[in-house]
Amino acid sequence: MSEYTATLATVSRACPLCGHGDRSRVLVEEAYDPGRMGQFAFASRKLPEYMHYRLLVCAECDLLYASPAPAPETLDEAYRTAAYDSAAESACAARTYAGLVRRILGRLPGRNGALDIGAGDGAFLKELLALGFTDVAGVEPSAAPIAAADSTIRPLIGHCPFRAHDFPAGQFSLITCFQTLEHVYDPLQLCRDACGLLKDGGAMLIVVHNRQALSARLLGRRSPIFDIEHLQLFSRRSAQALLRKAGFGQIGSSVVLNRYRASYWLRLLPLPGRLKQRAIAAANALAVGRLPITLPAGNLAIWGYKTGAEQENCEVVEPHHVGWTSSPSSAHETDWKSILRVRAGAEAGS
Ligand SMILES: [Zn+2]
Repeated sequence: MSEYTATLATVSRACPLCGHGDRSRVLVEEAYDPGRMGQFAFASRKLPEYMHYRLLVCAECDLLYASPAPAPETLDEAYRTAAYDSAAESACAARTYAGLVRRILGRLPGRNGALDIGAGDGAFLKELLALGFTDVAGVEPSAAPIAAADSTIRPLIGHCPFRAHDFPAGQFSLITCFQTLEHVYDPLQLCRDACGLLKDGGAMLIVVHNRQALSARLLGRRSPIFDIEHLQLFSRRSAQALLRKAGFGQIGSSVVLNRYRASYWLRLLPLPGRLKQRAIAAANALAVGRLPITLPAGNLAIWGYKTGAEQENCEVVEPHHVGWTSSPSSAHETDWKSILRVRAGAEAGS
């Protein structure tokens, strides 16, 4: 466990959305026990640990953000080595996200070129292919979910943080980023870079936890969204501001109805750890744990288009690092062309 505590150096920061450092107030002080950090601390859909950094609310843009927060370079290592155990849930979530894409499909400039940032085990890439998208790719900084990916999908996933310079500008009709923007150090730069990679009229679709959702307000600090992995938490207002500031127009939003197995919903309940483990085990033994249940889990979908009017707001794509940053000489480097080359080879062999 000590390997995690040793790497998590933290830095103070201003609001990562609007840049104001003096319009924020502390909502909650840090609740963090380094001794409880394990290999699942940075894994997706883990059991909630009820640990978080000091969280501040920005009066300017409504973002809730951690400061101090882990330094970008420490995040890269934390995610690279994070464990993974959520295949069933990622497939459920991918189907939900495909439903969101269907809503905006008719307005996209086509179905050629789709990129999923924070692709995990690639379950959503499979959905994109089923929707008729071509030249589909994902990037994922953690090795474990990629290892768990279907062998047909794995070649589409680049094992790296999202870096705009890995892709040519104006390449994609759709860029998606699901439950990832809470995890990166600079969510605004990530979205600006995504805007630069889209074709004119292309869309970015994001899903974020809504900190103003009923479930989050009822559970307060016992809500699983208060987590050491989350460096910021959005509301509808701040999530829309994120895409607007990144250069997107015609911004839309919708509450997400998630469909998960009953045992996964049990994971999210604010019960003592041992009681929760027993409840999950009992539900699985009785097979009710596998029953699919659809509920609003407190997630928001926000989308925006790269419109002509906003185009000048899109930042020029420069070689720099976003989110799970790493050095250019990173051992897990990949590029768009190599992803496509491997994909073409896989198709030729099938
Ligand atoms: Zn702000």
